[in-house]
Amino acid sequence: MDFELDAALRQLGDEAREVGRAAAQRCEIQEDSWLIGTSREFSLELAGRGWLGMTWPVADGGGGRSPLERFVVFEALIGEGAPVATSWFADRQIGPTLLQYGTPEQQARWLPDIIAGTSAWSIGMSEPDAGSDVASLRTRAERRGDRWIVDGQKVWTSGAADADWCYLIARTDPDAPPHAGLSEFVLDLHAPGVETRPIVDATGNAHFCEVHLDGVEIPDDHLVGTLHGSFKQVMRQMEHERGGIDRLVSNRRLYLDVVDAAPLDDPRLRQEFARLESGYRIGRHLVLREVLGQAPPGWSAITKTWCTEFEQHVAEFCGRVAGADALTWNRVSRNLCYSPAYTIMGGTTSILRNIIGERILGLPREPAAR
Ligand SMILES: Cc1cc2nc3c(=O)[nH]c(=O)nc-3n(C[C@H](O)[C@H](O)[C@H](O)COP(=O)(O)OP(=O)(O)OC[C@H]3O[C@@H](n4cnc5c(N)ncnc54)[C@H](O)[C@@H]3O)c2cc1C
Repeated sequence: MDFELDAALRQLGDEAREVGRAAAQRCEIQEDSWLIGTSREFSLELAGRGWLGMTWPVADGGGGRSPLERFVVFEALIGEGAPVATSWFADRQIGPTLLQYGTPEQQARWLPDIIAGTSAWSIGMSEPDAGSDVASLRTRAERRGDRWIVDGQKVWTSGAADADWCYLIARTDPDAPPHAGLSEFVLDLHAPGVETRPIVDATGNAHFCEVHLDGVEIPDDHLVGTLHGSFKQVMRQMEHERGGIDRLVSNRRLYLDVVDAAPLDDPRLRQEFARLESGYRIGRHLVLREVLGQAPPGWSAITKTWCTEFEQHVAEFCGRVAGADALTWNRVSRNLCYSPAYTIMGGTTSILRNIIGERILGLPREPAAR
């Protein structure tokens, strides 16, 4: 067990930090760049440097590089606030899903564009009445010949207004138990019957959307993995979604800038600073365990809970250092306003604590109220 990154990894991280800093300076907002920092141009730059699909097999067009190399690159890029959002969902989640569950034809069709930085993807899981409980989703896909006809509505679909594709979960067997009747599709967001409506969040940003689906046709060969078998696949995707470095460094650049100017000789700030510095290192070790494939199933619930609560502590710390300035509209107040989202998206902390209690600690379920 050696926690020290070797010289080559440190050098790669330094290179990515420089690239990320330069790109972030061209953006209006640096925080939460993996979610709201969209830039087709920067995706092409990432591709040019071989930083998309870095760890995917060379035979599939990927870089064949190590998970640690990808880790240091994205810790640096997102930590600096580089606009990686256009490619992030595909790189983090959709590509690995296609590699695991897609057919060779599907991999040949979609992976090259992801690796080239020329396609943007969104994730169509949540619905107005199905967020924490994905199994209750109602968007319906009905088979007609060699197509599926899809009707329903998704919500909070990040990046959908600018994306080309949506990784959609829909109910394909209405008579099966809720968990058993769901399937996954690649939906062309420009297909007739698809309407995306951006939603403005509390900070005035509109990165997530409602996606309305009215008689949308999806070809049968866009079904990914097992028919009615989505639930198992989703659980695997959640591990990619919850255990990564993006959940720790969303507001890292803000923190570093605030710390640079903070009066750290104030004993109250010193305590807080020490707590955050320890918190970052613990979070980083948790993520590294995921990255190295050493985390047991379900562990990403712990990683995400720790890391996103850490990000909220960062936002609060920056607010305390800013004092009355946090009452005007600036980076600090924007982050304070945005930070409740950290422990909602990707599974709320309450749900993750249930997973930790039941799956990791093996605690008995709470008896139903009488
Ligand atoms: C910034 C942001 C980006 C997002 N991007 C996407 C995206 O790209 N694609 C996508 O599909 N979704 C996305 N989401 C949606 C996100 O996954 C859901 O908001 C989340 O899963 C919670 O679902 P919900 O909002 O329906 O809340 P609900 O499930 O209605 O929960 C409401 C409250 O009840 C609590 N609760 C619910 N059930 C339980 C339980 N069994 N035990 C204890 N407490 C419970 C929850 O913790 C929460 O506090 C995004 C959300 C945000 C904030």
